[in-house]
This record gives sequence, C-alpha cells and structure tokens, in this order.
Amino acid sequence: MKILVINAGSSSLKYQLIDTAENKVIAKGLCERIGIENSKLTYKPAGKDAYELVQNMKDHTEAIKLVLDALVDPQRGVISSMAEIDAVGHRIVHGGEKFAESVLLTDEVLETIESLNDLAPLHNPANLMGIRACKAIMPNTPMVGVFDTAFHQTMPPEAFIYALPYEAYTEHMVRRYGFHGTSHKYVTLRAIEMLGKPAEETRIITCHLGNGSSVSAIKGGKCIDTSMGLTPLEGLPMGTRSGDIDPAIVGYLARRMGVSIKEMDSYMNKKSGMLGISGVSSDFRDLSAAAAEGNERAELALKVFAYHVKKYIGAYAAVLDGVDAIVFTAGVGENDRGMRERILTGLDYLGLDVDFEYNRNAPRGEEIDIAKPESRVRVFVIPTDEELMIARDAERIVKAL
Ligand code: AMP
Repeated sequence: MKILVINAGSSSLKYQLIDTAENKVIAKGLCERIGIENSKLTYKPAGKDAYELVQNMKDHTEAIKLVLDALVDPQRGVISSMAEIDAVGHRIVHGGEKFAESVLLTDEVLETIESLNDLAPLHNPANLMGIRACKAIMPNTPMVGVFDTAFHQTMPPEAFIYALPYEAYTEHMVRRYGFHGTSHKYVTLRAIEMLGKPAEETRIITCHLGNGSSVSAIKGGKCIDTSMGLTPLEGLPMGTRSGDIDPAIVGYLARRMGVSIKEMDSYMNKKSGMLGISGVSSDFRDLSAAAAEGNERAELALKVFAYHVKKYIGAYAAVLDGVDAIVFTAGVGENDRGMRERILTGLDYLGLDVDFEYNRNAPRGEEIDIAKPESRVRVFVIPTDEELMIARDAERIVKAL
C-alpha cells in the first residue's frame, strides 16, 4: 500500500509517502512557515533531485495541496494520481486516556481528539488542522490517527497516578501519559525480533535519546512505565527541558525572580536542560565539542544527562525484575557513541557485558548489538522509524475496513 504520513505542527507540516510493501520512502519533505510570509515546500523524491518551492501557503489546506501537486507532478512526481494514495496516517501528540491504539479518523473521533486539546494546547490543535485539511482535499481517502501517547496506555495505575489529591486525576486528567510512544513501540517490536524470544518473555528498556528524551520499561511487549508524564517536561534532562526537578522550585523561583507561571513554563521547557546547564547549546554535538575543548559546564551537562539515563535504567530494571535488552534510539542514542559509553559504564551488575571497543567505532544508521556475545543482556542500537510505524498502523487499520 502507499501511505502518506503527515506530521502537522502549527506552522509546519512534514510528510512522507511510504510504500509499505517494500518498506520504502517514495518521497518526503516539509512545508515551513505555513501562514507566515515566504512559506517554503521542500520535496525529495527517491532517486530524483530534491527541490524547494517558495510560495505563500496561507493555511494547512494550501500546504497539503502543494504536497499533492508535487507528488503527482508529471516530471518530478512519484505517483500518477492522488487515487494511488491508499490512506493517510497522521501523527497526533496526545490521545489522553481515550486512545490506546491507532484509530480511523471519523468525525466523532476528531471531536474526541478536540476534547483533549487542553492536554496538548500547542500540538493537538495543529495536528487537527492537518487532518481537516487532508480530509477536505482527499474526502474519499481513509485517514488514520497514530498517537504519541497510545503505546504507554498499558501502564498500571501505580505507574501513572501522581500522589496528588485524586481529583487531579478524575477532574483534571492529571496523570502520567508518556510520549514518543510510536518510537518506543517501533524499537520494542524490532528488539523482540532481535531477541528471538516470545514477546511475553521479554523485559526491555528503551532509551529514546534525542533533543527530547524518554526511557520506557517494556514487559512482555507492553509498556509498564515511562519517564515523560502529563507533558514531555518530566523525566530525563533534555536539550532545553529540565526533566525531573523538585516541584517546589517552580514557585520558589517564580517568587524570587518575580516572573509569572507562563514565564516559568518557558524557563523549564526552553531554557533549561543541556542548554541551561552548559550555557553553550542544546545540541549534543556542540556539547561534546565544547567539552573536548575544556568547557567544564558542557562536560557537566553531559555528565548530568548520562547520570539520569543510568538512574532510569536502574529504576526500570527494578520494576521489570531484570532486563533482557537495553535499546538506544533517536539522534543521540543512535549516533553519540561517547554518550552510550558514559551511560553503560558500570552497569555490569545488571548482567551487561558491553563491547566498548566495538561501540567506539560502531557503524551508524543500522541495527547493531554492542554487547559481547557472552553478555546476558543485549544492548541494541536501533534506528527509529516513526513514519514507518505510522504507515504500518494505517495500513493495518485500512485493510481491516
Ligand atoms: P533528534 O531529536 O532525535 O533528532 O536528536 C537530535 C540530537 O541528536 C541533537 O542533540 C544532535 O546533536 C544529536 N546527534 C545527532 N547526530 C549526532 C552525532 N553524530 N553525534 C552526537 N550527537 C548527535
């Protein structure tokens, strides 16, 4: 099947056309500055030259139109007509407790998603704009929603309830939801295959380490805990997010600095994390370069990050009653060999015997196992593929119609 995968933000829209029979991206690209002057379409068809088109797109509908025009263009296109697209898979950030699975996007489902807008005020409305634009232009093509939160809906209450008055949960939807679910699910499925055991017998810790980072504990193929919470701010320190902090710090600093809750929100989401500690950058490559040149705060940021990932691995090994595989994925997890070494050093007590020599020169962009053959625990590096996961879910749902 040919599935168009859409990830719509408030002023951007990423797309990939995927052939699921061949696991192949046929074309991909990005619309930027939607609703702002000088909007730009980037289009990269497989095996042909990429191109950019600067043309105003007043809204998501115009953006999707330009994407479809590019896909069917007689010279640069990759399909002969829109009818070749069997389904559209949409990434949706927050499914609350309503969606534990991907779902066909009917009008009723869209209303339910809308009712969750408070949970992800920056993302869900933008995702919905993308869906509505596609529906308007492709009214006969089935649309499927794939939620960042869905994979984590199997968590037991003791993992997702915060120790606040219970009404915070029942009246205000406050609980742990977790994010990056599509990525955690993709690498979990791959890791289970690589372990070669029945899914029910596996205990896996998945570390999605990128600009945003989260760790999940997966037992028998199902998520039982994850580090992000009501929002993606909880858990590991990230590029610009604080991750876990004493919640009293928020009020303390707001009073001392005389700033509003809104400003504190931006302080913790955009100015903290690796950027906040180092004062250098939120980007791990910049941090490694600065640390290598002797920048102590960059080195400290990297140490803090590695320490927290290690701490979560220990915690999740405890809740999983042991571990069979640790998985690294996303920008840092897949590429930053030095960070992997920092995290994995000293974890022998868990049954890991990492081949650090191999890790130091390990290939990038492919699935590898960096544990020694005799290691009781496998340590996989698995390039994530959220778009392929979305395309597969869309295909499964459309085939069952
Ligand atoms: P993501 O959010 O998954 O795209 O990950 C982005 C992060 O991955 C950035 O902090 C990058 O610095 C980091 N990253 C990407 N490639 C490398 C690399 N070769 N070495 C170290 N970090 C990398």
